[in-house]
Order: sequence, then C-alpha cells, then structure tokens
Amino acid sequence: MKVCTKCGIEKPDEDYYKVRPDKPWRRSVCKECHKAYQSERYHADIELHRKANRIYAENYRKAHPDELRAYRRAWMRKRRSA
Ligand SMILES: [Zn+2]
Repeated sequence: MKVCTKCGIEKPDEDYYKVRPDKPWRRSVCKECHKAYQSERYHADIELHRKANRIYAENYRKAHPDELRAYRRAWMRKRRSA
C-alpha cells in the first residue's frame, strides 16, 4: 500500500502505474489521478495548439496577402477545370 501524492488516499500498489515495465518502481500518483491529469493535459494541449494555429494562420495571412490570393486563384482554377 502507498499514499497517492495527489488525492492523499492510500491505495494498493496495483493502483499505481509502473514507471518502467521491467522495474518494480511505481509512480507516486495513483492511476485515477494520473488519468485525470493526462486528459487535463491533453485538452489543454489541444486548446493551445488550436490557438497557436489560429495565430499562425492569421499572421501568415497578414504577412503574405498576395501569396494567399494567388494560391486561392490557383485553387479555384483547378476546381473549375476538374
Ligand atoms: Zn490519487
């Protein structure tokens, strides 16, 4: 048994993920808390990526208005001929 450093609840060793499959070491945070942390991180990352992408696209549009117009025109032409 060991106490999770996150929720403070004492749980059996099986409730902790192993640090490495070939070693007996286990994480100090229980599986439940670890999963919650992972999904929290995942969603935070998605938001961050979305925001970064949006800012990048916006900056790109502002920096290369002619390029974008040319690209759009080429794309329209390709669509029309298809
Ligand atoms: Zn926990």
